[in-house]
Amino acid sequence: MTQSINITVAKGDGIGPEIMNATLFVLRESGVPLTYEEIEIGEAVYKRGHSSGIEPGAWDSLRKTKVFLKAPITTPQGGGVKSLNVTIRKTLGLYANVRPCRSYHPYIDTRHPNMDVVIIRENEEDVYAGIEHRQTEEVVQCLKLITRPGSEKLIRYAFEYAKHRGRHKVTCMTKDNIMKMTDGLFHRVFDEIGAEYPDLEKDHLIVDIGMARMADIPEMFDVVVVPNLYGDIISDIAAEISGSVGLAPSANIGDHCAMFEAIHGSAPTIAGQNIANPSGLLLSAVKMLGHLGLNEYAERIHNAWLKTIEDGIHTGEIYTDTRSKQRVGTQEFAEAVVARLGQEPDRLPRQHYMGRQIQMPVYERKPAGDKQLIGIDVFVDSRQSPDELADRLLKAVGDFPPLVLITNRGVKVWPEGMSETFCTDHWRCRFQLADGKTMTHADVAAMLGKLAEAGIDFIKTEHLCTFDGKLGFSLGQGQ
Ligand code: NAD
Repeated sequence: MTQSINITVAKGDGIGPEIMNATLFVLRESGVPLTYEEIEIGEAVYKRGHSSGIEPGAWDSLRKTKVFLKAPITTPQGGGVKSLNVTIRKTLGLYANVRPCRSYHPYIDTRHPNMDVVIIRENEEDVYAGIEHRQTEEVVQCLKLITRPGSEKLIRYAFEYAKHRGRHKVTCMTKDNIMKMTDGLFHRVFDEIGAEYPDLEKDHLIVDIGMARMADIPEMFDVVVVPNLYGDIISDIAAEISGSVGLAPSANIGDHCAMFEAIHGSAPTIAGQNIANPSGLLLSAVKMLGHLGLNEYAERIHNAWLKTIEDGIHTGEIYTDTRSKQRVGTQEFAEAVVARLGQEPDRLPRQHYMGRQIQMPVYERKPAGDKQLIGIDVFVDSRQSPDELADRLLKAVGDFPPLVLITNRGVKVWPEGMSETFCTDHWRCRFQLADGKTMTHADVAAMLGKLAEAGIDFIKTEHLCTFDGKLGFSLGQGQ
């Protein structure tokens, strides 16, 4: 007899409890050798004053079982609280968010009968680092962080996934025509790692046209690998056009732990009515069984689910008079799946789980290059004109390091700015040495001391460095 495996479950908020009960009902009726540790997450925990929606003690269960089946939660609006999903993904190092979106034509209404896409979304970085600041009266900022190790791990996972799951093409989407450094790094790493997989087709699209194509011709995509924010958006588009946002599962994969959840939210307006579709969570549980090596069970439940869909047993949001035979509630849908355990679909492709977790190859990163400090961007809160500000800065600092540029919202306003340019109270003042000269942290501290003495309200600084002689910063307009 297979030994029982311990997993952690959380029923969440809104429709969470009803879809989780339906999912656990199917798992139990299938005889899956699992035992469940339940933790509480979400609204009630936020209300008890835990700003990330999870009790400190709940981490013990997650770290022990390493596998989490999670229902959606309601994220309170406004400041003072952190997203539980983001906290869990980052704390447990769940770097890859795998979101398969496929259509079930002709049983579920869709304009894209041949769609079968897997979105692999970066899960820990980008603007989701949650580093935001109000810097002046008029300006707030959000830091976008893209790292080389984070991108390498994620992109390598996407190629390994494609290789092991019999996929033929991996598409990357970025906005590197604008964000040349952050998205540029992600794209570059995609090209570098892609070269190690000659048997797979590779493709890069600028994300705006990429998303438009996903909405219009999703059949052209196979595996799509994207930074966090784009992945968040494109996976909802893909799920929605495949038939319903209620169908799509997701797996959050890390080196040590994994979390499985539907991609939809807690749908509070339909909560407690037994009408929500439990399929997104149930299919996430099926992915979890594959991850745990319980392939036989994953296969039985997945095929029974496909047969239920084929038999026209549908929840309200996918029900149509022409394609469906019976409109059922959440629990009745789960009962219909259980009644079909052991059966297989007639037309939809039968699912076969050979399953094994994707083993990431060991690889070595190139050592970091030689780093030199050649200047500093000082961000200043000021209501003066560009010329007045430049005057004050030059008087305060002198010519070491030399002031070379002032921009406002990225547009050059000094020297030789244009009076038409709209300016806020937030200025980037670039001090940069020429001809291979370098400076030290002590020089930076001395310069900031001079600015403080002159009463200049600097709010942030960024070092301008070269790495192996290459500029590690974007050029200001006109430089
Ligand atoms: P949502 O996904 O909850 O709902 C969007 C629409 O889809 C609604 O019309 C809803 O009724 C419908 N829908 C969603 N799941 C369904 C299902 N299983 N069956 C039938 N219809 C379904 O998105 P939202 O309304 O933007 O967010 C509601 C709450 O969920 C918010 O507090 C949000 O922060 C949270 N949320 C949580 C998660 C998560 O925990 N993973 C993810 C997304 C949103």
